[in-house]
Amino acid sequence: MLFTDIVGQEAIKSHLINTVKENRISHAQLFLGKEGYGSLALAIAYAQYIMCLDKKDNEACNECSSCRKINKLQHPDLHFSFPTVGAKSSQALISDDYISQWREFVINNSYGTYEQWLEKMDAGNSQGSIKVKEAESIVRKLSLKSFEAEFKIMVIWLPEKMNAESANKLLKLIEEPPEKTLFFLISLNSELIISTILSRTQLVKINRISDDELFIGLQQQKNIDEKKAREISRMSDGDYNAACNMIETSVDAQQNFEFFTQLMRLSYMGKFPEIIKWVDSLSKEGREKQKVFLSYSLKMIRENLIMNQDQLSLARFSDHEKAFAQKFSSFIHPENSALLASELNSAYMHISRNANVKVVFLDLCIKLNRMLKM
Ligand SMILES: [Zn+2]
Repeated sequence: MLFTDIVGQEAIKSHLINTVKENRISHAQLFLGKEGYGSLALAIAYAQYIMCLDKKDNEACNECSSCRKINKLQHPDLHFSFPTVGAKSSQALISDDYISQWREFVINNSYGTYEQWLEKMDAGNSQGSIKVKEAESIVRKLSLKSFEAEFKIMVIWLPEKMNAESANKLLKLIEEPPEKTLFFLISLNSELIISTILSRTQLVKINRISDDELFIGLQQQKNIDEKKAREISRMSDGDYNAACNMIETSVDAQQNFEFFTQLMRLSYMGKFPEIIKWVDSLSKEGREKQKVFLSYSLKMIRENLIMNQDQLSLARFSDHEKAFAQKFSSFIHPENSALLASELNSAYMHISRNANVKVVFLDLCIKLNRMLKM
């Protein structure tokens, strides 16, 4: 993974590169930001740059033995720890048990989400966690001397999935790591990380990718025309993974917009025979499209709230979205927007977890009916 393979994030890239050049790599860093902003990809590119045997000015060589191993995620000094599923703690599975799926998952898409990882593991309804047995495995790995590289690097993806017991096992190690050992923690939500761990890491905040950077990235990396790239970069909220999902599921913006206006009108009016017809037509789309639609709806709620608060200059609308929002935004205000967002998020989660599509959307319409009238 090279820095140049990562969309946007130029400021973070040069910050990371400078820590290497100036020999001030901090031993425990917390990369905080959504998967689709590139947090894991940046950590891997950083590790590759640190370990490269023939560094160029701002990039790893991508040819030395170290780079070649990292490209396959098979460098003996680059370790990964991530949430796994496993029944009881006595039979708890650890990252090593899933390492081949993990390599495939990351190499295929280093912007992949936690939900996509659960799907990759065939997790069913189980949630992933980083268990005590995993923490013990981390301690064991880092007690060994590095095999080839100057540094041993431990990348912990989603440390918020550790329970207190696992976190406590790692506390001392993160505070006083063995010599030449680096921790890169990649987190979505630092509020869920135990504070004693948090206070021992240096924050690397990963912000959303700008629309322009995403537009350029999509044109370079995906075979789509300029108009489509512009449209998708505006809709995907700085999230490269979301943008790719939209391309792969060939969702066009117009369809999402129409679904959204229908959902809001029908829910508001509470006409259930029509709602049932609408749910039927939506249920014919695949789950991925339904998820993209729900993400789009979340974005629309947020933008309409911004408009409701007289901040039109900050809202990110296309022309037809803006025309719809002229009236609709009066229904979205601080009292109901968080509730609406929470219901859309929960519908998204249920669709990801293979819940019955019709039940999820009918339930959503009933709740929207109440919330839109608040
Ligand atoms: Zn190299």
